[in-house]
Amino acid sequence: MSQHPLDELVARSRAIGADTSLVVWGGGNTSAKGVVTDHLGRERTVMWIKGSGSDLASATPGDFPALYLDDLVALRAHDALDDDTMVDFVGRAMVDPSARRPSIETLLHAFLPARHIDHVHADSVCALTNHHDGPLAVKEALGDRFAYVDWIRPGFQLSKIAGDLADFDGIVLAHHGLIVWADTSDECLARTRAAVASVDAYLARTRLEARTEPATTSRDVPDLGESDLARLTLALRGRLNRHGRRVLRVDRRLRAIADRADVAEVVAAGVSTGDHMMRIKPWSAVITDPTDTASAVHDVDRSADAYAAYFERERAQLPDGYSMHAPDPLVLLVPGLGAITTGATLRDAEVLADIALHTHTVAATVIDSFGEPSTLPESETFAFDYWPMELYKLSLKPPPPPLAGSVIVVTGAASGIGRGIARHLGALGANLCLADLDAEGLDACAADLRAAGAPAAWTIVGDQTDEVVVAATLQGAVHEFGGADGVVVCAGIGVTGSLQDLSLDTWNRGLSVNLTSAFLITKHALRALADQGSGGSLVYVASKNAFAPGAGFGGYSVAKAGMVQLMRIAALEGGPIGVRANAVNPDAVFDGSGLWSGGVREERAATHGVHPDELEDFYAARNLLGRKVSTDDVARAVAFYLSDDSSRTTGSVLPIDGGVPGAFPR
Ligand code: ZN
Repeated sequence: MSQHPLDELVARSRAIGADTSLVVWGGGNTSAKGVVTDHLGRERTVMWIKGSGSDLASATPGDFPALYLDDLVALRAHDALDDDTMVDFVGRAMVDPSARRPSIETLLHAFLPARHIDHVHADSVCALTNHHDGPLAVKEALGDRFAYVDWIRPGFQLSKIAGDLADFDGIVLAHHGLIVWADTSDECLARTRAAVASVDAYLARTRLEARTEPATTSRDVPDLGESDLARLTLALRGRLNRHGRRVLRVDRRLRAIADRADVAEVVAAGVSTGDHMMRIKPWSAVITDPTDTASAVHDVDRSADAYAAYFERERAQLPDGYSMHAPDPLVLLVPGLGAITTGATLRDAEVLADIALHTHTVAATVIDSFGEPSTLPESETFAFDYWPMELYKLSLKPPPPPLAGSVIVVTGAASGIGRGIARHLGALGANLCLADLDAEGLDACAADLRAAGAPAAWTIVGDQTDEVVVAATLQGAVHEFGGADGVVVCAGIGVTGSLQDLSLDTWNRGLSVNLTSAFLITKHALRALADQGSGGSLVYVASKNAFAPGAGFGGYSVAKAGMVQLMRIAALEGGPIGVRANAVNPDAVFDGSGLWSGGVREERAATHGVHPDELEDFYAARNLLGRKVSTDDVARAVAFYLSDDSSRTTGSVLPIDGGVPGAFPR
């Protein structure tokens, strides 16, 4: 008993998607044809095809809208259809108009009669055609049963051409990919794999034959050292932050490409398929000397200038209302290292590295196998780059959250206010470096973030009064994310006892945890932010007690007053390098806070003459608004200080205390 064609299609699509040599992120598409009963009880033939913007690897039935095949095939009678009309007509054939929009290559699948069709953007198939003798190479690699079609942008015309080639076993689309079909799903997948394997074998043979003399492409490049790498990433991130913040991620898989003497030619050989065009535009930049940060930044400038010039040359192709994509490169090839790729999150940067790996490997394969590459003319790449249908595909992504791409260090993140702040910043899209003494609490905080779908956080366990730990915290931010944009200084402990009773040890411990740790992270953050050169924001979680101290709470209040003064000095010294420093003064935050444990609650309750259980209500009742203050209230204020919404504010204190007249800032 055979499976439902849609189930077969989903299974086959996932198998194809799992093989990144066949398709890269979001690329390629698959279809199946079968019969459904419509709402009037009629049996109708439909085609399920991958929806635009979905990924084969994670495909589910919902990713494959069904379309009435008759309505699609009837379109073949047209001589020509422009893109908008084609998309409109295809949309009218949908069984469920509210389903995911079908692939822009829908008609190509519809005009071929086979029940199952795979269209992959395999690296090797692109390598096979990205040079002057594409037709010959296709014939040698795949034989006469595969048709060769010169580059033509996906659309109605390509669909008609493909439809006329149904007598072949498959089609190679130059600079684009492969189309293979069969009447069963298993056979279709087997044929796709066999065709790609034949091309791989052919390329391997050709590479060997081409290698008559020692390859001139390899050179001996020493490993880039850790400290050079840290300097490089900070400088590059400072430059790239100009057009929106992004994380920088190192990917050593591209080392062999980056070390080639002809790496510039490999990059110039361009992108191999439309997916690559869309995702790694403008294009990769080559860093010539990674140990010289000024020259590396200059390499980025040059790449951006080249993209801007290319846009100027080709912009006449565009209808009104289109503007240039941010011209800065998203991928940087670094000799002695590999690649540094960028994105709003490490995951985004990793996807980009995958695509860059495929793109540049194809180009290198072409150079090694066939000599000079021949890719699409600039005008074609441009048209693809700014093609409305492709822009639509990318527009399916939701708009980025407010702190997307930013990197924030939060100390004291394992519990209480720090953990609440981390949760809030993660929801706003920040990439977090979480520091605390409490390993278990940190793990739990990171797990919270994962469960909430926030970007992956990096954690460091250690005592923030130890300068070695503090230095490692900032180094971690640079190593993991390429730099930092903000620090939330939240590590702290409660210190109770009257001045007469307070032991020197307790006093010192309070100062050390509540103030010295703040000094240390300020020092190391300012150094890193200065090297990065794109400003930053330091936020100090002080206390209402900084302005309105409490008797019997001196060890704490003195440290928090010192923290506010530290913030002011940081604002003075950070201003010239664009680093802002501000403080929040919360009062009586109980939810999740560890401050009240270890006898502090009982002690404060005794001071105010209330029962410990009544302490929270007591504090709420004494503020002007009569409101309890929560961790979320503090977190929102911290996010404001970290965001560009407060870009003209430094040296300020924001009370979050429900209104305590004695603690008004002054
Ligand atoms: Zn395609």
